[in-house]
Amino acid sequence: MVHVVQKLPKKHKVLILGILAGIVGITLIPSEKATASKDSDANALEIGKRYELPITLTEPNIANRSISQEQEEKTQSNGIEKPFHDLSFENFKVKSGDNLAVLFKRAGVSAQTLHQVVNIDKHAENLTRIHPGETVSFAKDEQGELVQLKYAISKTETLLVTKDATGQFRSHIDTKDVDLVEQSVSGEIKSSFWTAAISAGLSERQIMNFADIFGWDVDFANDIRKGDQFSLLYETHYVDGQYIGTGEILAAEFINQGERYAAVKHTDGNFYTPEGRSMKKAFLRAPVNFKYISSSFNPRRLHPVTGKVTAHRGIDYAARVGTPVVSSGNGKVIKSGFNNLNGNYVFIQHGSQYITKYLHLHKRYVSTGDKVRQGEKIGTVGATGRVTGAHLHYEFLVNGVHRNPKTVPLPKSEPLPKTELAKFSPLAQQRLAMLERNRSLQVAMNN
Ligand SMILES: [Zn+2]
Repeated sequence: MVHVVQKLPKKHKVLILGILAGIVGITLIPSEKATASKDSDANALEIGKRYELPITLTEPNIANRSISQEQEEKTQSNGIEKPFHDLSFENFKVKSGDNLAVLFKRAGVSAQTLHQVVNIDKHAENLTRIHPGETVSFAKDEQGELVQLKYAISKTETLLVTKDATGQFRSHIDTKDVDLVEQSVSGEIKSSFWTAAISAGLSERQIMNFADIFGWDVDFANDIRKGDQFSLLYETHYVDGQYIGTGEILAAEFINQGERYAAVKHTDGNFYTPEGRSMKKAFLRAPVNFKYISSSFNPRRLHPVTGKVTAHRGIDYAARVGTPVVSSGNGKVIKSGFNNLNGNYVFIQHGSQYITKYLHLHKRYVSTGDKVRQGEKIGTVGATGRVTGAHLHYEFLVNGVHRNPKTVPLPKSEPLPKTELAKFSPLAQQRLAMLERNRSLQVAMNN
């Protein structure tokens, strides 16, 4: 099974599980709103394409029902009696320029009632933050007086304001359970990681998170090649059988130039290798976020000045002026200055052995003597000094000698303590096996 429901199912989960079981191995990307699929020809499914989940609700549309039994029960359990049956709600959509007073007036509810409602407590204050496009539902009694109001604060929380037997308004937040469904996706890079990931259905946030997980091992700006492969296992969230969004990445794998990197999330929220070593290391592979790097594959980039392919002593990152540059490790700024050759430059000392250098900056955000943290913004990409185009020139020195940060042996990262490792290992194996199975299924389907 590729897709697994984590918590034990309510009826919706059983349903989701059933659907997923039917399409194991297919890159299943639910659209923003999972509605009944019009196109249910299973033979027409393609990997990497977005499909709508063919979910049908097991219950009548909740929004159109009067107070549901569950709500009645919950309302009662909150000390509010249930004096009304068969409430019929009228929905009012918030238009742009609306405020609560306008909306209540349109709903035929008095300003006095509005005043009572918004002053109940802080739950009810949510009403003052309505946005255009949202809906507030009103139910009235035979005299036309408000008896209940419903407002969906979020996809999981609904505010209920109910008039009790004494005529007082009470508020209650009805919270829906979020069902977690594990889902996996994988893809192969043909032109750029970003393009491949988007076409596999990953969100921008997921792509950035994925790159962050491997940011100590892989230079996503310069070292991505055609044929590199990525796989992810991640949570998706459902409420009442409706897809509401993606959650966290649980495990990830990246094959870069034939080298395999794998990471599994532990209960501490951090990612570890299958052996239980932290993914976090002393140095980030790239001091520039790959999302700013335009060219995808250009391993033989010409030197910006000499116009020759030379193994000069640093790594160049071609990016636009103003692109953030971060320190690749914790350290101390030993020089922040300007000269005609380097332009604006920053040198950082890390421990006793390592120095990193950042040249041709547009702006510098640190001064000589400053302490910096890994990932801290130290400046921006520029075209200062002896250059023909904007780029960051990055150097990595070990004991004063220029080295390739990818190949130079660096201190190993921290391993999990034994007791934690005992908890981590079985879960890691299970999740990685899930990733592997899904990847081979997708490969099989591609061939
Ligand atoms: Zn250079």
